Amino acid sequence: MIHKLYYPDLGLVNTTEMFQQAMDEGFAVPAYNFNNMEQLQAIIAGCVDTKSPVILQVSGSARQYAHPALLPHLAVGAVAMAEALGHPIPIALHLDHGSSFELCRDCIESGFSSVMIDGSHLPFKENTDLTRRVVDIAHDFDVTVEGELGVLAGIEDEVAAEQSHYTRPEEVEEFVGQTGVDSLAISIGTSHGAYKFKVKPGEEPPPLRFDILEAVARRVPGFPIVLHGASSVMPEYVSQINQYGGRMDDAVGIPESQLRQAAQSAVCKINIDSDGRLAMTAAIRKVLAQNPGEFDPRKYLGPARDALVEMVKYKNEKVLGSANRS
Ligand SMILES: [Zn+2]
Repeated sequence: MIHKLYYPDLGLVNTTEMFQQAMDEGFAVPAYNFNNMEQLQAIIAGCVDTKSPVILQVSGSARQYAHPALLPHLAVGAVAMAEALGHPIPIALHLDHGSSFELCRDCIESGFSSVMIDGSHLPFKENTDLTRRVVDIAHDFDVTVEGELGVLAGIEDEVAAEQSHYTRPEEVEEFVGQTGVDSLAISIGTSHGAYKFKVKPGEEPPPLRFDILEAVARRVPGFPIVLHGASSVMPEYVSQINQYGGRMDDAVGIPESQLRQAAQSAVCKINIDSDGRLAMTAAIRKVLAQNPGEFDPRKYLGPARDALVEMVKYKNEKVLGSANRS
């Protein structure tokens, strides 16, 4: 394989050391999804400010949105920005929900330091074989790989499933052993998107299945576990969106207390996408509602970026426990 771009040359790191530290110290590394410059600036500013390692995460469609040729250079810029802010932090560039061997290979060749191959919709044997193929090529280049067992409900970019099914702990040892993956996403009741659960007003969403997480951790002690669909769908953003002309009825996420509990366990990576989208959209709606004549993108993307910085700092400090770890 010929590398067009190789991640160590870009100043990026893979996830091995950050996950080891997260496991040893009982926190979770944040994986923030991004697809534009303002989101990236906010993630870096928030993580540098809180001295947190970070996984910059893009789905296949986000990579297309930004342009595959531009994207790795955004990550180079992120590394330079962290240095310029005076506190370099470990930064990984990760493919979220890689849908094929070819996409993963393409990302490995173009500067990604970590990839997810999502074969969770396949039968066990096919998921294992596909994941093994990706691991083989990735490990030749020290790129780390995340696999998935179990299916999350909800919709996120190109990933959609009506029904979740929980990870079967009895499959985990064999999957990890046969594939050689570096981390594993599991399904314990989290869900993609901003409408995670159908609950009546004032009702709590169903609790995460910590019994499954514990059973998994017992079978693969010390192995990094990943939670997808783990936004809390922060109510202040939803109500601000609704206040300024939006309409998001019944948006509900994972209670923060449960995410805190997960972060202290074998969960070493927590994915946050929807909360970042909500923070930016809430800020943009407010600016445009209050200033109908405004047409300079900096006047609404700037406040959106500021809102996202605050959200990142809050998550790192108060939910994931990743602040002051780098
Ligand atoms: Zn996901």
